[in-house]
Amino acid sequence: MAEDCIFCKIIKGEIPSPRVYEDDKMIVINDVAPAAPVHMLLLPKNHTANVTTADPELVAYMLSKVQMLAEKAGIADKGFRVVINTGMDGGQTVNHLHIHVLGGKALGWPPC
Ligand code: AMP
Repeated sequence: MAEDCIFCKIIKGEIPSPRVYEDDKMIVINDVAPAAPVHMLLLPKNHTANVTTADPELVAYMLSKVQMLAEKAGIADKGFRVVINTGMDGGQTVNHLHIHVLGGKALGWPPC
């Protein structure tokens, strides 16, 4: 756990956030400012800054759960987007690895 990390505080339960899914390695919450009708965040329980610092096996594990989560959220059939913002130019605002899963509408491209 990292001091002053908002996602660590959510994982510890210090900041309330309903969990869409939880296992021994990660929790999944809904984004507080959703960019689509479905906008989930997959957060590893152990703090790591981003995808470049994370154990690749952990990232693979998290990605392996995306289809199940999309099915649970009802967005698997029509499709969805998986995003890992990384670093300043990547638009990462919380320095605790998180995987966005967005869907529920036709998403534009490019994203900005
Ligand atoms: P990123 O810009 O990739 O770092 O994404 C961080 C995301 O975390 C943003 O989409 C925020 O809306 C979201 N976020 C920040 N604080 C919270 C919170 N307390 N609960 C849920 N989502 C949050």
